[in-house]
Amino acid sequence: MHVETNNEAKTEIKRCKNCNLPSNYPGIKFDKDGVCSICKKKEKVYKYKGIEELKKEVQKILKNSDENREYDCVVGYSGGRDSSYLLYFAKNVLKLRVLAITLEHDFMPEQTKKNIENLANKLGVEVKFIKNNALNKSGRQCVRAWANKPDPAMCATFCTGCRYGIKKLIPKYAREHNIPILLVGNTPYENINYRVNLLCGNYKKFTKATKIKGYAKKLFQNPTYLLSPSSMHKQLLDFISYEGKKKKNVNPVTIKPFYSYIEWKEDEVIPTIQKFGWEYDKTLNSSWRSDCFANLLRQYYYKRMLGFNDLDVYYARLIRIGKISKQDAIKKIEEEGKYEKDVIEKILKEYYNLDYQKIDNKIEKYLKRN
Ligand SMILES: [Zn+2]
Repeated sequence: MHVETNNEAKTEIKRCKNCNLPSNYPGIKFDKDGVCSICKKKEKVYKYKGIEELKKEVQKILKNSDENREYDCVVGYSGGRDSSYLLYFAKNVLKLRVLAITLEHDFMPEQTKKNIENLANKLGVEVKFIKNNALNKSGRQCVRAWANKPDPAMCATFCTGCRYGIKKLIPKYAREHNIPILLVGNTPYENINYRVNLLCGNYKKFTKATKIKGYAKKLFQNPTYLLSPSSMHKQLLDFISYEGKKKKNVNPVTIKPFYSYIEWKEDEVIPTIQKFGWEYDKTLNSSWRSDCFANLLRQYYYKRMLGFNDLDVYYARLIRIGKISKQDAIKKIEEEGKYEKDVIEKILKEYYNLDYQKIDNKIEKYLKRN
C-alpha cells in the first residue's frame, strides 16, 4: 500500500529553529538566529481558578433556572477525542444532568458513530441528534468548487456550515428546552488563526477588512464559488462573525471549564475516554482529530499545499511551553498526521464525487507557480 507521508510537499521551507513553524506561516518573521517571531513573544501564563470555583459557578446558574428542567447542561458532542472527554467531565466530574447534542452530517466516519454510541451508553448520557444540512450542502459545494482551482487558503471553506451548527443550532435547542448551561471544550491554547489569516494573502495586516478583501479576491480567482451564494454567506459568517460582542443574560450560559478553571491535559484525555469505550479509527492510520472526513480532508490539503497544518501549529506551541522536545514533536506530527492516499482518494470519490489525481495534478501546478 502506498503511504503518503505528506511531508514531500515543500522541501525547501525555512523553519523556526525552536518551534519548527515554517516561513510560509502567515505573519511569521525570523531573527538572525533563525528563531521565529511567535517564539519571541512571551507565552501567556494561564491561571486556573480550580474545580471548586467551577462547581460554584455552575450551581449559581442552576439555582436561577427553571426547576422543572430536564437537563442541567448541553454538550456539543462530535464523537471526537475532545468532546468525548468533555462529556465524561460534565457527567462524572461535575455530576450534571447532561444532554449530548450531536450534529448529524454526511461526513461522519463509522468509528465516530460507534464512539458516540459506546460512550453515551457507558456514561449513561442521552444523545440528541440534530441534522446539520448546512454542512452537508455548503461544505460539499465548497470542496467541489475548490477542486476546480485548489488554493491553500480556501481549504478553510471545506467545513463551511459546521460552525453554524455549533454556534446556532446547539444553543437554539438548549434555549427551546430550558437547558441553562452550554459547556464547551475550548482551551486557551488553540491557535487556528492562521486559517483565516491565510485569506489575507498579500495584505500584511490581519484585520476583518483584509480578510474580506482577500476572500473576495479568492472568489474571483475561482468563480465556481460564486455559483452558490448561500455557501458564501455561510462562509462569511464563519470568518467574521458569530463571536461578536458578548451579550448579557444570554441563554444558555456558556461555560468553558478548560479555559478558566482546569488545565486541559492531553495525556489524561485518551486513557479516560478509552475506559468508556472510545476507540481510535484504525482505518484512517491516524489518531488525530478524525471525527469528520471534511476536516480530515482539509488538514490533508493544508499539509499538501503548505507543508503544515493544525497539528504543526499545535505542537509548535507545546514546544514553546516546554511540554515536548522539538525532536519528539516532529516524530509525533509524522506519526499522527499521516493519511494514506487511498483513504483520501476514497473520501473524495464517495463523498464528493471527485478524482484525487485530477486535483493532485492541479496542486502540482500550483506548487510550481508559487
Ligand atoms: Zn518559533
